Amino acid sequence: MNKEPTAEQIKVFWEWVELEHNWVNYKGCSRCPAHTYIQVCTPPIDLNNLFKYAAPKVFELGYRVKMESICESSFQFVVSKLDESIYHYGHEIDPALALFRALDEVREASK
Ligand SMILES: [Zn+2]
Repeated sequence: MNKEPTAEQIKVFWEWVELEHNWVNYKGCSRCPAHTYIQVCTPPIDLNNLFKYAAPKVFELGYRVKMESICESSFQFVVSKLDESIYHYGHEIDPALALFRALDEVREASK
């Protein structure tokens, strides 16, 4: 699957993370690029934001996050239960997208 996630998928993902706006001043939120007054923070899907804001959510749920290299031109992230009972994978050329896929699978599975 190489399709970029839609704005709606990204919103649903950050809603699940329960990331609240972090207002720095009247101009807007320090996490969101746009000045909006929506309820949920929707920062860009990049490795920094995913590790900073979304990974703690899966750690809380008893998962760990691991990056594997399975071929030269792509990245695979594995999000697995500490007891190795459940595995979720994300495999993409863009490492951030790979991590997003794996984390979003946890969201899907924990509904
Ligand atoms: Zn925000």
